[in-house]
Amino acid sequence: AKAEGRNTVRAFEPAMDAALAERRRLEADLRRALAGDELVLHYQPQVRPACGRLVGFEALVRWRHPSRGLVPPNAFIPLAEETGLILPLGEFVLREACREAARWTLPLKVAVNLSPRQFQQADLPERVLAILTETDLSPDRLEIEITETVIINDMARALSVLRRLKALGIRIAMDDFGTGYSSLATLQAFPFDKIKIDRSFVSQLGERPSAAEIVRAVLGLGRSLRIGVVAEGVETDGQRRFLADEGCEEMQGYLFGKPQPAERLAAMMDGERPA
Ligand code: C2E
Ligand code: CA
Ligand code: CA
Ligand code: CA
Repeated sequence: AKAEGRNTVRAFEPAMDAALAERRRLEADLRRALAGDELVLHYQPQVRPACGRLVGFEALVRWRHPSRGLVPPNAFIPLAEETGLILPLGEFVLREACREAARWTLPLKVAVNLSPRQFQQADLPERVLAILTETDLSPDRLEIEITETVIINDMARALSVLRRLKALGIRIAMDDFGTGYSSLATLQAFPFDKIKIDRSFVSQLGERPSAAEIVRAVLGLGRSLRIGVVAEGVETDGQRRFLADEGCEEMQGYLFGKPQPAERLAAMMDGERPA
């Protein structure tokens, strides 16, 4: 049994080496991607189905890798976060999103995801302001999406950063609402402008009665706290109808459009009637 144990260890090591090597390769690749032009943003529409109006787009980063193809963010954001590469990456995303939004034919808002490490920068508000100035985007068109993990690390600092961002006229949305440990306490302590109901609840509508109750409760919470609620991951007409009946005004999901490259947005905006 002892010998077998040793063999198991020996067999395990090369696998670990391989994983580590793969990680290093990905990290080196990501550095190169940042220096070059391999990172691109796709944009997913956010709509008000009742009046059929487009209200904005969420910017979602993709990596056009020369040999791996289009790599989704879940495959490299965590690594970027661990290695600190998220800082230049996040700054690229913010600048690119503001730059592109400033050229849209309608003054819709652009939502940008910020990771915990970005939010820990004490000078984040100054950096954001510099980008808004440089790209000439009005602050009220920018919405920053954060999850509560951003906040629980260092409450005091997060609150100060959040207040300074809001003082610039930027809106702040709480992303993936309901999936964290203390969503309600976070909501009470921080001045969010918007709550995004996590896709996991929306996708279970019609399958698990509890999902409907949770969604209903979050919409009620938004109403009483006067915070806008967006449902994410809306894929079916049944989900849309339920949400609309329960008073959800803003939605995002494949039903209304997948994330798409910047070139495709002009056509979507052309179809809009002027506000
Ligand atoms: P998220 O912020 O919750 O973004 C929503 C994700 O759900 C996106 O995946 C989007 O494509 C997907 N989605 C939207 N509607 C539907 C739907 O109807 N059905 C299904 N099945 N999926 C839908 P994506 O683009 O792969 O991004 C995954 C996550 O990566 C994002 O989750 C966000 O946490 C992170 N991420 C993306 N871009 C950035 C970025 O620029 N910076 C940071 N820090 N994180 C980012
Ligand atoms: Ca998001
Ligand atoms: Ca989300
Ligand atoms: Ca998410």
